[in-house]
Amino acid sequence: MKTIGLLGGMSWESTVLYYQLLNQGVRERLGGLHSAKILLHSVDFAEIEQFQVNDQWLEAGAQLAEAASGLERAGADMILLCSNLMHKVAPVIEAKIKVPFLHIADAAGSAIKVQGLEKIGLLGTCYTMEEDFYRQRLSDEFDLDVVIPNEEDRKYIHQVIFDELCQGKFTEESRTNYLTIIDKLREHGVQGVILGCTEIPLLVRQEDTDLPLFNTAALHAQYALELSFAE
Ligand code: GLU
Repeated sequence: MKTIGLLGGMSWESTVLYYQLLNQGVRERLGGLHSAKILLHSVDFAEIEQFQVNDQWLEAGAQLAEAASGLERAGADMILLCSNLMHKVAPVIEAKIKVPFLHIADAAGSAIKVQGLEKIGLLGTCYTMEEDFYRQRLSDEFDLDVVIPNEEDRKYIHQVIFDELCQGKFTEESRTNYLTIIDKLREHGVQGVILGCTEIPLLVRQEDTDLPLFNTAALHAQYALELSFAE
């Protein structure tokens, strides 16, 4: 079993999910008292969020790359960045480490391909939904046609992520509104929806809709477990 390095705290609500999923995955494979070998560097999310709103991506990238390098020096065999959005600076992190960096969009893209889907909805922060760093990878590497909500819905999804989900608030009202937006994406012909923000799976669950949902935190953790147990 290899050691998994996590860049977390963005937000810690979803990092908890990674910690649980990785440990559950090891228990399923090895049983008994076995648990995952994890190194965690958890940031102060308020600092990262300031970099985001002030457009200081170089600074954000440098801080996360330094953290990843620390995890590598401490013995991590791979690095996972527990936020879809911060994959905007993935190339900076990758340039700083030698161990594999497991890209969250690859975890989602390959799971979607396994199911043979081609047209897919994407929910996440505005950066993730609107910019190229995520969608382009899904279309270039996995040949996916990615559909995003309209502008008003995108703003709403983004606002709920930062004002509620990342602050540990999960309300019935927001769940219902998210599900309405998912239904609108269905009208555009999507065959499934990527929950492209690691907190969204804490609000919306597969049992809430019959449209396949792709939980990026769970798929990312699964990707790490596969590598962790690979020969
Ligand atoms: N966890 C979120 C994501 O997966 C957003 C929070 C952030 O990193 O800004 O995109």
